[in-house]
Amino acid sequence: VEAQLRQAQKLDAVGQLAGGVAHDFNNLLTVIDGYAALLMARADEASARDLAMIREAATRAGALTRQLLAFSRTQSAKERVVDIVGLVAGLEEMLHRLIREDIELVVTTTTAPLPVRADPVQLEQVIVNLAVNARDAMPDGGTLTITTDRVDVDDERAAQLGGRPGEYVLVTVTDDGCGMSAEVAAHIFEPFFTTKELGKGTGLGMSTVYGIVTQSGGHIQVHSKPAEGTVVEVHLPMTSASPAGLPVAPAPQRLATG
Ligand code: ADP
Repeated sequence: VEAQLRQAQKLDAVGQLAGGVAHDFNNLLTVIDGYAALLMARADEASARDLAMIREAATRAGALTRQLLAFSRTQSAKERVVDIVGLVAGLEEMLHRLIREDIELVVTTTTAPLPVRADPVQLEQVIVNLAVNARDAMPDGGTLTITTDRVDVDDERAAQLGGRPGEYVLVTVTDDGCGMSAEVAAHIFEPFFTTKELGKGTGLGMSTVYGIVTQSGGHIQVHSKPAEGTVVEVHLPMTSASPAGLPVAPAPQRLATG
């Protein structure tokens, strides 16, 4: 409990800091990129190459600040009733593009909708972040499996999860990649913890996921074995229907996959 509290405090502090700085920083980046683009239009070939480097760095820094902004926004979620089955189906095409060709994406969902109360944009962020980590864990290819299901959590399981018994939606993201040591696994939810090389990882993915899941009243567990792979289990409380006054998110369009 004490560790969880410390984690929550850290998340709060980082969230506030990130939100304050990231927004202004992003505006300045737009200015840097804008002037570099102007210069590029009248530069010779060698200078244009250098300016392209500046623009590329600005773009990468922009992506980083957007992640920071998204991270700090976990504080102000727009909750509604969301069908997880529809949400995952709507993400499939994007996920195919996100992973490499040597990774197979397998999505298994129930036919019945699985409603939870959460911010749909944040839920998408959870799945995308977990998929990116799975991809990065499989540099030589492999299988990324995403399943959604409805589970009854009994007293014993609830105690393990640190939550209440009841009906939950279980989202599982599995990879057969490099896995992680117990030492790494112990730190993955810490903001800025990363084992990826400079510029490749921010260390904010899993802490963002943690923040969103716990704020939606859910629980997250990670099971991993080095050289075998990783299973991330996200339990979200299932909600029966749309309570009065709570808007239902339109089901994302089912995209043709190919
Ligand atoms: P980042 O991906 O930017 O490094 P994250 O917070 O998403 O930040 O992840 C932190 C670390 O947790 C990663 O650097 C990696 O070491 C480890 N990790 C997360 N997911 C996986 C996974 N599916 N397989 C192996 N390691 C993982």
